[in-house]
Amino acid sequence: MELLYNRLDYLYSEMVKIRRYLHQYPELSFEEVKTPKYIAEYHQNLGHEVHSEVGKHGVVAILKGKKPGPTVALRADFDALPIQEENDVPYKSKIPGKMHACGHDGHTATLLVLAKVLNSLKEELRGSVVFIHQHAEELAPGGAIAMINDGCLDNVDVIFGTHLWATEPLGDITYRSGPFMAAADKFEIKIQGKGGHGALPHLTNDAIVIGSQLIINLQQIVSRRVDPLESAVLSIGSFEAKNAHNIIADTATLTGTVRTFSEKNQLLIEKEIERILKGVCIGSNASYIFDYKRGYPAVVNHPIETEFLAKIAATIPGVKNVRETPPIMGSEDFSYYLQHVNGTYFFTGARNPSWDTVYPHHSPRFDIDERSMLIAAKTLGKATITYMEQNGKNNEN
Ligand code: MN
Repeated sequence: MELLYNRLDYLYSEMVKIRRYLHQYPELSFEEVKTPKYIAEYHQNLGHEVHSEVGKHGVVAILKGKKPGPTVALRADFDALPIQEENDVPYKSKIPGKMHACGHDGHTATLLVLAKVLNSLKEELRGSVVFIHQHAEELAPGGAIAMINDGCLDNVDVIFGTHLWATEPLGDITYRSGPFMAAADKFEIKIQGKGGHGALPHLTNDAIVIGSQLIINLQQIVSRRVDPLESAVLSIGSFEAKNAHNIIADTATLTGTVRTFSEKNQLLIEKEIERILKGVCIGSNASYIFDYKRGYPAVVNHPIETEFLAKIAATIPGVKNVRETPPIMGSEDFSYYLQHVNGTYFFTGARNPSWDTVYPHHSPRFDIDERSMLIAAKTLGKATITYMEQNGKNNEN
C-alpha cells in the first residue's frame, strides 16, 4: 500500500484545492450543473469511461484494472445546502444563501484524487472501480435511488462510502455493523371537527380536544407497540389550530417525524398512527386526512464488509481510534445502495483537535479538518485494493 499512500500524500494539496474550489461554488440538491460537469471532466482527463446525467445529475466513472477481478463501487455525494455561510475563510462560499455545510465538497475531492491515484495503479489492479458521484443527498427522494434505477450498480460486487464527520475527532473512524443510521419519515394529520362559539361547546366538535387526545394516544406506539429492545422515535413537531380565545376550533393540523431502524417498525408505526387516529376520530365523530411520507430507509451495513472495513481502517496511517458506534438517528440515502449490494458506510472523524467549538453538520459555521480527506482516501483506497486481492477471480491460478 506504500505506493497508494505516497501518491495520495503527494496529491493532498490537489485534494485541498479541489475541495476549496467546490466549497466556493455550492449547488443545491437537484440543481447541480457545474459540479457534475467539473467531476465528469476530471474523470475524462484520466481516461475513465464517464456517464453523465445518471439519475438526473449524477456522474458515474469507471476505471478498469488490467487484471480481472471484482467491481468495487465508491460513492461520494456533491450537493450543498440552503445556508448562508458564516465562516470567515479564504474559501468561503461565493454563492449567497448556499453552502457546503455537510462536507460533501470534501467527499468529492477525496474521491476524485483517489480516482487519479487508483488510475495510476491500474496495471496492478485486479478488477474495476465504479466511482459514484451522487447528486441530491440532502433532499428526499434523493439522488441515490434514481442513480440506481439508471444502472449505477450494474455489475457492482461491493460498495463503500464514508462521511467526513465533524463532531468526531480527526483520526477516529466510526463504524457499525447492521442498522447504522435511521429511516426518517414525516407525516401530517388534519383533523376536521366542527367549530363554534366557545360558550356553546355542546353544539361543536372541538378539533383541539380531539388533537390533544390523539397526541397522548400516539405516545403508546413507541412505548407499547415497538419491541423495547429496538429503538424508534415518534415526535409531534407542530399542533396548529389558531383561533380567538372564545372560538372552538373547526380544524387542527399536526405534523411529526418518525425515526426507525427497520422496515418492520417503520410499517408498524405508520399503521398504528392511522389506527389510533381513526379510533380517536370515530370516537369523536370527526374526520381526518393522514399524509405519511417516507424519507430514506435505514442505513443497514452488511456485517462481513463492515468487519473487513474496520480491520482495514485500523491499519491506515493517521488513524488513531477505530470504534463501533451506537446507531445514529440521522438519515442518509446511502441506504438504497446497501439494499442492492453488500457494503458498508462509515464515518471519518473530521474535527480539528485544536478547535474549541464544534459546529455540527448543517451549521452556518460548519467546517472540516481537511486532513480527514486524506485518511478517508487511504481507507477507501486500501479497502478497494484489498477487496480486489481477496476476491480476485484469478486468485485460484
Ligand atoms: Mn451529508
